[in-house]
Amino acid sequence: MNELDSEFIKGAIVGGGFGEAQNEYDADIILLNTCAVREMAERKALGKAGLLSQLKEKKPDLVLGICGCVAQQRKEQLFDGLPLLDIVCGTRQIAQLPEMIESVRKTGERQIRVEDLSSEKLDFALTKRNSLIKAFISIMRGCDNYCSYCIVPYVRGRERSRPPQEIIAEIGQLAQKGYKEITLLGQNVNSYGKRLEPECDLVELLERINAIRGIERIRFVTSHPKDISPALIGAIARLEKVCEHIHFPLQSGSDKVLRLMNRGYSLNDYMKLVDALRDAVPSIGLGTDIIVGFPGETEADFAETVEAMRRIEYDSAFIFKYSTREGTDAAKLPDDVPLEKKKERNKILLQLQKQISLRKNRASIGSYVEVLVEGPSKRNPYRMMGRTRQNKIAVFDGGQHLVGKILKMTVADATALTLFCQVAEETLSAPQNKTGQRQSPAYRASP
Ligand code: SAH
Ligand code: SF4
Repeated sequence: MNELDSEFIKGAIVGGGFGEAQNEYDADIILLNTCAVREMAERKALGKAGLLSQLKEKKPDLVLGICGCVAQQRKEQLFDGLPLLDIVCGTRQIAQLPEMIESVRKTGERQIRVEDLSSEKLDFALTKRNSLIKAFISIMRGCDNYCSYCIVPYVRGRERSRPPQEIIAEIGQLAQKGYKEITLLGQNVNSYGKRLEPECDLVELLERINAIRGIERIRFVTSHPKDISPALIGAIARLEKVCEHIHFPLQSGSDKVLRLMNRGYSLNDYMKLVDALRDAVPSIGLGTDIIVGFPGETEADFAETVEAMRRIEYDSAFIFKYSTREGTDAAKLPDDVPLEKKKERNKILLQLQKQISLRKNRASIGSYVEVLVEGPSKRNPYRMMGRTRQNKIAVFDGGQHLVGKILKMTVADATALTLFCQVAEETLSAPQNKTGQRQSPAYRASP
């Protein structure tokens, strides 16, 4: 989500007539996009803003701004800690950035726009995307769920869905430019369409996108377990472009903690969902987020999370140490799990997930996977990388000419995070015009 917002910010600025600088030393304007979801993210952003203020001391004409959730949350307080800051721009005022920058440059006066969380005017066409192959598409903004630990509803406002025709038009244009994969983004994409007239839900949206020529892969994130419907599971199984992957955070394996988190499901509900997903789509990759050290989490509660992760065997898991966010319901509870305990639990779950991922990835050695080639591998620029339909990273020997192609590969070796592959067929394109059967078994990764 933040990556996409940064692409909007870039688009708004470039659309406002500014060019792109090579680095921060070369820039006349520096805007930091920020995340407030955990204290560490906020601290890092403010630390970076402090360093950039030192740059501004040497270069007084530099325009320095903070955008995003920290701006929305801290508002004018930010000027107290950062006296050289020029701009504070909230989560829904991105389109006003060029005007704010012009005002600073003309008058030298500070600009702050954070007031209105109910409206937002974004020209999505301006988005300046970092990739020519994969694109994020915002289908909804905000969140109505109020999970007790989470700051998002307070800094991003109420949930609002974008009209489907606007989304379809944007994706159609991307398809014409050669984009192959799109990821639909929202805090809880399963509730897409709430309050839309005429009605359209996520399943209908997926069906309409599935029909767009040129787009070969569709992903969506994040799914809230309480809102994943049988119809959505059916759509993942039926629509050939929808990838076999779902990120649906469990957060905790303890029913007591889930209740305190206001998540709206029990472990049992969640396990039924896991079974339904695997029954309908046997090759599906499952991803989760887990919070350790939520207020009141005992050793027994934590043991239930460990047990749940053992049983479910996710393909990927993000583990977070709970951090109190001012203004949330959980902030009223004592943050009573000591930091050392949080670190210990975090480490246990990371190690457990690493073992599970390694075992599953190694079990896929010798099988075929379908990979969309993205570009050179970050670790070794002499090799190429892409992702499987299950969202696993694949690294292989090949050249730049393969970028944007979808290739059939065999898995030759694997670590917990990477599949090392060999190209089996260079000519493969995504399976199109499927009737009934979604994929030939050759493209399915081993479970
Ligand atoms: N809307 C998405 C993502 C929310 S933020 C969803 O509901 O899944 C991403 C993740 O950050 C959450 O899933 C949660 O695991 C974590 N998170 C949110 N608030 C947190 C907090 N106060 N402390 C620690 N982790 C938190
Ligand atoms: Fe936060 Fe819950 Fe909304 Fe996700 S669904 S953004 S965790 S309040």
